[in-house]
Amino acid sequence: MSAADDLVIAVDGPAGSGKSTVCRGVAVKLGMRYLDTGAMYRAMTVSVLAAGVDVSDEAAVMAVAEQTVITSGTDPSDPGIWLGAIDVSESIRGSEVTAAVSAVSAVPGVRYRLVEIQRLQVQAARDAGVGIVVEGRDIGTVVLPDADLKVFLVADPVIRAERRALENSAEGHLEQAFIAATHEALRKRDAYDSGREISPLVKAADARVVDTTNLTLPEVIEQVCALAVGARQ
Ligand code: C5P
Repeated sequence: MSAADDLVIAVDGPAGSGKSTVCRGVAVKLGMRYLDTGAMYRAMTVSVLAAGVDVSDEAAVMAVAEQTVITSGTDPSDPGIWLGAIDVSESIRGSEVTAAVSAVSAVPGVRYRLVEIQRLQVQAARDAGVGIVVEGRDIGTVVLPDADLKVFLVADPVIRAERRALENSAEGHLEQAFIAATHEALRKRDAYDSGREISPLVKAADARVVDTTNLTLPEVIEQVCALAVGARQ
């Protein structure tokens, strides 16, 4: 495959299933662009929190969303995300944002705005004759129902919690209590994302399931690349 391929790959799955690392790896390997839609919902949450708005107040969240300009890069090696001119790549990963993002994402008007931008970025890649890997929760079901390939990444919840806890551990070692707390936080976020009325996290009927529980990162990337080659033929 070359950069000229205009394949569109939709990757969905729960928190900690490895989506970001896998999607970036696949995009680099296949010379494709990459769009992290979770980062866009996180950037919107940064904006809402900065405005001092209660995230459960839909009208107030929407009022902030209407004034918020989000730009996300599509270079898989260094995607970047901006609120206006401010680079928020680091602040979107903060624990306050992670705790509030599901509530902000459940506001229909927020999704409407962001889905519009997401589709425009896919169109821009297509127009440039370049493929794109798009990751999120509703990509295969709502944002890009006609994607060339849909992948649903899953992993055992305990493994997901261990991976996420390791990413978030400053010291690089893990206490059992920290893993348990991470497990509970992931469980809550997944329940919220799967249970919401609008665009819930759900596998598209035609998505290929890849279970990453017992696979290394290079193995998962290899599997998704093989599926992409299959989708091309
Ligand atoms: O992928 P990440 O964990 O960064 O996503 C953060 C949150 O953004 C998710 O928990 C979910 O609430 C929301 N999200 C969404 N739809 C997407 C991507 C992310 O609702 N397509």
